[in-house]
Amino acid sequence: MELSQNSIEQLSALLSEPALKVVVLSHTNPDGDAVGSSLAWAEALRSRGHQTTCIVPNKFPYYLDWMTGIRDIVIYRNEAERAAKAVAEADVIFCLDFHTLSRLDALGDVIAANTVARRVLIDHHLDPSQDFDIIFSHPESSSTCFLVYSIIEALWGAQSVTATQAEVLYVGMMTDTGNFSFSHLTPELYRSLAVLSATGIDIPQIYNNVYNSFTEGRARLFGYTINRKMKFLRKGTVAHMSLTEAEMRRFWFQQGDSEGFVNYPLTVKKMRMSAIFIEHTDFIRVSLRSRGKVDVNLFAARYFEGGGHKNAAGGKSYVSMEETIARFEAAVEEYANEGLI
Ligand code: 5GP
Ligand code: MN
Repeated sequence: MELSQNSIEQLSALLSEPALKVVVLSHTNPDGDAVGSSLAWAEALRSRGHQTTCIVPNKFPYYLDWMTGIRDIVIYRNEAERAAKAVAEADVIFCLDFHTLSRLDALGDVIAANTVARRVLIDHHLDPSQDFDIIFSHPESSSTCFLVYSIIEALWGAQSVTATQAEVLYVGMMTDTGNFSFSHLTPELYRSLAVLSATGIDIPQIYNNVYNSFTEGRARLFGYTINRKMKFLRKGTVAHMSLTEAEMRRFWFQQGDSEGFVNYPLTVKKMRMSAIFIEHTDFIRVSLRSRGKVDVNLFAARYFEGGGHKNAAGGKSYVSMEETIARFEAAVEEYANEGLI
């Protein structure tokens, strides 16, 4: 991954202004990469004399609660006034791990209302909005955490990375790559991991904190979903699953409990695409994963008002569960007939 020298120089000039008021923002349903990159970047800026506020639209999943600094993140849904005040007063707004303000839901309007702050995008999704003063858009980066690491290294050197930063950066690199098993696993990524490891972080402990800290309800919900709700299409090359609110209540669902379910059908040989539909109050959240050439970013954009990456994307559906599934199955046929599956 090659960072633009021009963008680094612009960012360096911006950050040379003393004591900036900075807002660091990430997306709705923040994941390990969103939270990890925000916390690391905010800490790096704070240690250089800037005042930072991290904001996310809604709460992060409980298995990230242990992360250093996470309690200081302002959750817009819980503290809208505090978030709006920080945004109104900001000199600079950093947008991390998302590519358009629509990924912020209602918080997007608050950001749009601030026309004074300079805006910087640091992201790895496809098709970024161009409405920023400085853009670091790298779809070839496996995580935003790796991107933040690379920017810190370019600005201040690898030796500047603290153990606190290393720990939260590792979380995002690990979660966005499925514990280093997805695409974009480059030599540079492994070099950055060597730097993080040299700070003394406890990598097995980080893994346990994130992946071995779920509830009993989550384990049972997973078994139920795979056993009862997983349906195969097109000779076992496409799978879908669904969860209604009533089903989730039965297993004491907490936000984050369905994280990773969508990956499981891809453990079956020949599977090329997997989807899960999760019922929310106002819509159904669609999560998509694929293998190889099957492009779920395009699929999500075309059929579910969404987007993401080529092999991991998401979107929304505003019709019933039955209708969502019927639409998905029809879309799969259409996509396959075009030779895209
Ligand atoms: P997940 O399935 O883990 O929620 O999301 C997978 C990927 O798709 C993430 O990179 C996420 O940012 C993206 N994504 C999820 N939902 C949406 C959506 O509604 N719109 C867009 N544009 N991207 C989404
Ligand atoms: Mn990410």
